[in-house]
Amino acid sequence: MWQRGAVTDSAPLDVDLALLGGGGAASLLLAALDRHGVRGLRIAVVDPVRRRGQDRTWAFWGQPGTDLDPLLSASWQQVEVATTARRRVLDLTPLRYAMLRSGPVYDRAAAAERRLDATRIVAPAETVTDDGARVLVRTGDGRAVRAAWVLDSRPRPPARAGRTTWLQHFRGWWLAAERPVFDPARAVLMDFRTPQPRRGVSFGYVLPVSDRYALVEYTEFSPDLLTDAGYDAALAGYRDLLGLDPAGLRVREVENGVIPMTDAPFPVRPSPRVVRLGTAGGATRPSTGFTFSAMYRQADQVARALAAGRPPVPQAAYPRRHRWMDAVALRALDRGGVSGPEFFDRLFDRNPAERVLRFLDGGTTPAEEVAIMNSTRLLPMIAATAGDAAHRVRDRLRPPRPAPAVPPAVVGDTVGAKPGTPPVG
Ligand SMILES: Cc1cc2nc3c(=O)[nH]c(=O)nc-3n(C[C@H](O)[C@H](O)[C@H](O)COP(=O)(O)OP(=O)(O)OC[C@H]3O[C@@H](n4cnc5c(N)ncnc54)[C@H](O)[C@@H]3O)c2cc1C
Repeated sequence: MWQRGAVTDSAPLDVDLALLGGGGAASLLLAALDRHGVRGLRIAVVDPVRRRGQDRTWAFWGQPGTDLDPLLSASWQQVEVATTARRRVLDLTPLRYAMLRSGPVYDRAAAAERRLDATRIVAPAETVTDDGARVLVRTGDGRAVRAAWVLDSRPRPPARAGRTTWLQHFRGWWLAAERPVFDPARAVLMDFRTPQPRRGVSFGYVLPVSDRYALVEYTEFSPDLLTDAGYDAALAGYRDLLGLDPAGLRVREVENGVIPMTDAPFPVRPSPRVVRLGTAGGATRPSTGFTFSAMYRQADQVARALAAGRPPVPQAAYPRRHRWMDAVALRALDRGGVSGPEFFDRLFDRNPAERVLRFLDGGTTPAEEVAIMNSTRLLPMIAATAGDAAHRVRDRLRPPRPAPAVPPAVVGDTVGAKPGTPPVG
């Protein structure tokens, strides 16, 4: 017999829904199922790791007044975008920029999982066989789950190599200051005053929780990762650029990450009864790496569908024309036709901030998108559009190349990862 949380027989566990991967996308989905009152559905969650605690910080924008509000660590009506030429303060009304730490999201998902009476299998999903009516999942500990639907958010490379393959890679320090040094009324969204890499874009950002506590990050959009020492040096450089005195700071936590930025395809429906969610399902916006809002939106759509007795298939994370625009923008940035700081500076200079953010979430109208495109420099974008079209034709004529896997984040033995450690100098 299969029992909740413990299996004593090798017969497959029959469920309505199997979630493969229990990270960000699955956590938001479990919470959404609970919120929409879905009950009586047999659910299994398969993940070798039981996610809990603070392993990442999600920053995203959106309308206030959602169920996420009580979980937020901070939110800001105003954000800054800085270049060497100017510092722009943007009022995001009616949106706001928000910070959500993973701990409360995982806690809420765990509570939902209990209420939904889901079966947790702490093992990797290894094979997934869809016969069109049921999906058989075999797990690393020798068990089997037979599901009517599989929602798969296991990290995986795209189906084939993209025309541009970049990574968003970063390191952040949670900095505690002895004196008030941060402005909690305002986040720094992108600060391009950092030294720019030869190929790619870099920026810093600051997400203050109080006047003495903030997440300060150094981020690159580029093809290759830095070394451990490279991230530390870049982040220390950004801290100095902010005028923060290292003697009065302690690093409480360190956050590292790598997110794909590519125009390569992430198939959402690899087989009739398997639906991919999260980064694996294309929720990561190629031009920015932002993922959270699309995951949240899709979790809500899937939960609504299940509550109404429909198949758990969300809408595409972003409209097709946005994916095309991102492919062109990535190409222009990668092939050096456009400088990253100038590209983002012009976007925010020539459009209301709210329109740019809605665009990045895939929520603008075609007319607004024309305005957005008109704010970029025309000639390099035309060259990138032509290059993209030619590349697509070449791709059709040759066999697909496999996509490289997203490398793991560089995690160093950075000083100050725990409370009470010495200041970073
Ligand atoms: C440090 C960090 C910070 C980020 N910050 C932001 C941000 O500020 N804003 C934003 O929009 N996006 C952000 N992202 C991007 C994105 O939102 C996150 O990566 C998000 O967690 C993606 O959710 P996911 O479910 O696709 O993947 P994950 O959350 O990584 O979950 C995947 C799960 O699959 C499990 N798994 C792996 N192999 C198997 C297997 N064989 N079988 C079963 N399970 C398996 C893993 O254990 C994991 O729990 C960030 C990413 C990182 C890494």
